[in-house]
Formats: sequence, structure tokens, C-alpha cells
Amino acid sequence: MADVRLTGVTKRFGTTEVLKGIDLEIADGEFVVFVGPSGCGKSTLLRTIAGLEEASGGDIAIDGRTVNDLSPSDRGIAMVFQSYALYPHMSVYENMAFGLKLAKADKAEIDRRVRGAAETLNISDYLDRKPKALSGGQRQRVAIGRAIVREPKVFLFDEPLSNLDAALRVRMRYEFASLHERLKTTMVYVTHDQVEAMTLADRIVVLNGGVIEQVGAPMELYERPRNLFVAEFIGSPK
Ligand code: ADP
Ligand code: MG
Repeated sequence: MADVRLTGVTKRFGTTEVLKGIDLEIADGEFVVFVGPSGCGKSTLLRTIAGLEEASGGDIAIDGRTVNDLSPSDRGIAMVFQSYALYPHMSVYENMAFGLKLAKADKAEIDRRVRGAAETLNISDYLDRKPKALSGGQRQRVAIGRAIVREPKVFLFDEPLSNLDAALRVRMRYEFASLHERLKTTMVYVTHDQVEAMTLADRIVVLNGGVIEQVGAPMELYERPRNLFVAEFIGSPK
């Protein structure tokens, strides 16, 4: 578990400034959801926290330690993407164990973590199956399982439900909420779905054009939007 502190974080691609100075403190164990229109910088911000993109300026600290110069694997985070390609030729068990094997973890330790994650995610009965024999929701859980087995201090989720159909998306929201309740790990979650944000977040961060418009608890944003953008964005769910 860890807190995340962003201080004046900027990101440029060429001459385009995509993140224009992000200041935010995420508490240990908090569930923070970034929302905002397409292209506002949500994925770039997550990727920058993860170290998949290098910040152009500012400071990123995880667990009190500046991580700007650390590689993604040394930051204690695990990221789950929108398109979570599983290895088709590997079983569910092997998919979850693969990263740990690469990291040369002990076999008994790998087994303990994979079975523990499978239990948490309710996929213990599917460990021998190949991904093609799973439903969309089960595949999504395997992708989350691959992150859980790494026992990260912080989870980063980039629109993890956007490839699922509407009914499953609603069901999976509750899975994320209960996952957070059980693990109590810091979670940073990106979505463009306001209802998803309202359901999951301890605090919502509204991004627009690379700046933070407002940060607050869901009801606070709903009842006291700071400006018209936040009011329209939070108040008009699709
Ligand atoms: P969001 O996830 O909120 O939809 P992104 O973070 O993906 O937005 O993108 C924000 C902006 O940065 C967009 O204008 C996008 O075109 C631009 N961008 C993202 N990644 C790159 C890149 N690797 N090179 C150039 N521009 C990029
Ligand atoms: Mg995105």
C-alpha cells in the first residue's frame, strides 16, 4: 500500500503539452477515479505515473519516494489496460504465473499468489482453461489477476471495462468495489463513464485539456460543481 503524490506533472509530445501541471495527492488505500472527455490526457497521466511515459516536468512520488527515474517494474505499481491481451496458448494459471516466473519467483510462492488471486476473483474453477474458453468477464478477471499476483502497492486501471457489454460492465463495477474492499490497495482508475466513476470513487478527479478542473467526493462534485464544465460532465451521464 502506498500514497501517490503528483507535483506539477507535465507531459509534452513534441510541442503539444498534454498534461499542463497536475498537482494531486492520493492517500494510501484510496480509490481515485479520473474522468474527462476523450483526449484530455487520462491515459497519458496513468502511463506517466506507471513510468511508461517519462514526465516532461514535475515530480511523481510513490510511498514517499520520488520515482521519476525508476523503471516501471521498480515503481511498485501494476497496470491493467483497456485491451488486456491474454496469452492464448497458456492456461489461466499460466497467464497469471507468467510475470512472476519471468521475475524468477519461487515456485511455491507463485502457486500461493496465483491461487490466492484466483480465489479473490472467483476464477479458481477455471485455472486449467485457455482464455478462449472463458467469457468476457472471466477474461477481464484473469487480466486483473495478473496484476494482483504482483502484489503491487498501487493499481492503475485504464478503462478496464470499456470492451465489455453494458450489462457486464455494471456487474464488474461491483467486482472492482469489492476487490478494493478486500485488498485495500491504492487504486487509480480511469473511465469516461460518469456513472462508473460515481459508483467506485472515494474521490473523482475531473480532467479537461490536461488540467484538473475539480477534485472531490462524488456527491460533492454532483452538488457543488466548480464550473459549467464539471456540472455538465458529471450531471449528464450517457
Ligand atoms: P485520453 O486517455 O483522456 O483519451 P490520451 O492521454 O490518450 O487521452 O491523449 C491525450 C492527448 O495526447 C491526445 O491529444 C493524444 O492525441 C495525445 N497523445 C497521446 N499519446 C501520444 C503520443 N505517444 N504521441 C503524440 N501524442 C500523443
Ligand atoms: Mg485513454
